[in-house]
Amino acid sequence: MGKIAVCPGSFDPLTNGHYDIIKRAATVFDEVYVCVLNNSSKHSLFTTEERQQLIRESVTNLPNVKIDTFQGLLVDYARKVNANVIVRGLRAVSDFEYEMQITSMNRVLHEELETFFIMTNNQYSFLSSSIVKEVAKYNGNVSELVPEPVRVALDQKFAK
Ligand code: ADP
Repeated sequence: MGKIAVCPGSFDPLTNGHYDIIKRAATVFDEVYVCVLNNSSKHSLFTTEERQQLIRESVTNLPNVKIDTFQGLLVDYARKVNANVIVRGLRAVSDFEYEMQITSMNRVLHEELETFFIMTNNQYSFLSSSIVKEVAKYNGNVSELVPEPVRVALDQKFAK
């Protein structure tokens, strides 16, 4: 059986930082499921369908990446797609405590599921979906921060 990884997240919307993690995961694993998790209490700008569509349009050059969505526990999603690894990106020390908590809980729920972390590229260490939304909302230029389909979608969302 091939090595299957899941890259879970909110992706509201996909940024170049997310894209970089997905692309690097796709070089290491046979199949990568990018899973838009739909149970966050966060208020989202894009619907789950829109977020999936934007990822789909942005990863057309990565044939072993699949886009999906799930409501529920990540460990249950991993079982569903036979994934042995969760891949998460790490930006700064501030990400660490949260990730450690989630990883420990996932291990309690599903012992054989490993979590691997990929360090962000330095150029994306400041980048988050929230900051991109903030910049786009006030008509700032986000073309260096997100894939082109996301830039277009943000322009449409915030069109005056
Ligand atoms: P979540 O709400 O689950 O944290 P996000 O969409 O914010 O979902 O992030 C999904 C994954 O991408 C997480 O592992 C996060 O750490 C990672 N990530 C987000 N932004 C970046 C970035 N700029 N560089 C590297 N990884 C990132």
